[in-house]
Amino acid sequence: MDRETDLDYLRRTIELADEAVSEGNHPFGAILVSDEGDVLCEAKNSFAVDLGPGHAEANLARRAAKSFSSDTLAGATLYTSVEPCSMCAGTIYWAEIGAVVFGMSEKQLGDITGDDPENPTQNLECRTVLGSGRRHIEVRGPFAELEETIAEQHHKFWNYAVTSSPDDKPDATQGRIHLVETES
Ligand SMILES: [Zn+2]
Repeated sequence: MDRETDLDYLRRTIELADEAVSEGNHPFGAILVSDEGDVLCEAKNSFAVDLGPGHAEANLARRAAKSFSSDTLAGATLYTSVEPCSMCAGTIYWAEIGAVVFGMSEKQLGDITGDDPENPTQNLECRTVLGSGRRHIEVRGPFAELEETIAEQHHKFWNYAVTSSPDDKPDATQGRIHLVETES
């Protein structure tokens, strides 16, 4: 895949992350693309139903492992707006998916989510998890072209600053509202 193609698929994962939020979940989306460039399946975060383990990439990998042959999975690439955590990287490994492409790093996500109890982001690169296996999985990311867009999506969700009257609060479906102390 060339860089522009990777970016196009990553943009779809950002759209899915927005959809996840509108459905009451966290802003994460993932798609699986075949060797031929066909989108095999899409998945979103499912926190509202599955709580902590309801990550988009793990949801996708579990479904894909049941739906496609080993050859198809080995030739497929999982695209995700944010770098897979250890659970998702492990699930991708066990699903025998061939490659992973992510937009923003887990480190950057961790800087945004901080100590949020709903997303205790680990400080662990997916390359560390995937590189510890017996099977090679190609990893591409982060993509500087999309980092700002994805970071903004997450800032809006995890760190919404309520600075004035309650009337200015965004609709609940637009994000999780934190009462953040802001400097005046
Ligand atoms: Zn995860």
